[in-house]
Amino acid sequence: MKARDRLRIAIQKSGRLADPARELLARIGLSFRESRDRLFCYGESLPIDLLLVRDDDIPGLIAEGTCDLGIVGRNVLAEQAENRRAAGQAEAYRELRTLGFGSCRLSIAVPQDDAGQPASALAGKRIATSYPGLLEAWLRERAIDAEVVLLSGSVEIAPRLGKAEAICDLVSTGGTLAANQLVESEIVFESEAVLAGPPDGFGDERAGLAALFLRRLDGVLRVRDSKLVMLQAPRTALPALIGMLPDAEPPTLTRIDGDADDVALQAICRSAVTWQHLEDMKRAGARGLLVLPVERMLA
Ligand code: ATP
Ligand code: MG
Repeated sequence: MKARDRLRIAIQKSGRLADPARELLARIGLSFRESRDRLFCYGESLPIDLLLVRDDDIPGLIAEGTCDLGIVGRNVLAEQAENRRAAGQAEAYRELRTLGFGSCRLSIAVPQDDAGQPASALAGKRIATSYPGLLEAWLRERAIDAEVVLLSGSVEIAPRLGKAEAICDLVSTGGTLAANQLVESEIVFESEAVLAGPPDGFGDERAGLAALFLRRLDGVLRVRDSKLVMLQAPRTALPALIGMLPDAEPPTLTRIDGDADDVALQAICRSAVTWQHLEDMKRAGARGLLVLPVERMLA
């Protein structure tokens, strides 16, 4: 393949992952000039361009080398990997990072009257899905002999139309299932948005760009839920207070001018700092508690 000196990232053009993917790229410091057809965005701040496509096309674009990286649901990646395996094709992409949005699960759901039955009760039934690869692998593992009915959309109405006795579809809140009088019975696969790339690195200038991109991405992912906690407290209360900080890095302690007993503490916490945490710390002797968002971090 011809050497390329720009990196190309595929993201969903419109749909559930489109906005969060664009926001994530903006936080990494990428800006783009959009083309008229809005399919290609030229990278202005860095030589990193975007291709806006249907999410189903992303694994294939990476596999054939048209795109270098892609932001896509793990479900789409795994389904197509399953189909490639079945066709005897080599692995053509891998998951590089999980991105913390677009979380959902591929679940089997049955009409309310069949709720509570074990998975083995699916034997002999028809299950409608758009994810035949993942569903068949799941059934195979459990030696359940059910018929997989492939539907490309509106899977949830299949039971009412008499096309299947159960469905296997993506669920996040469960609202769509409830609206169709279906009950989730088995989780087949858990998913969220991931960054996918080729199984081996890049042999040209893209290697450096991909490394820069991943470094910045790691910085953004690391600070997303991080908070900077600041407080003052008597020295004697510190061991207890430090133990209360949720997922904290080792804190920085500073002397307070003219005060021999109290110190100022500052720590990065990796998980949510709730009101309950603050109230507990106040009771343990902390004063002047401050919780601040972290904008950027470079380790
Ligand atoms: P496209 O036109 O790009 O093919 P689509 O209709 O296949 O779009 P969306 O419905 O936008 O795709 O979903 C994209 C991804 O969002 C899914 O593959 C999945 O990873 C994730 N997702 C999160 N929650 C849900 C949900 N409740 N239903 C469907 N997908 C979900
Ligand atoms: Mg799709």
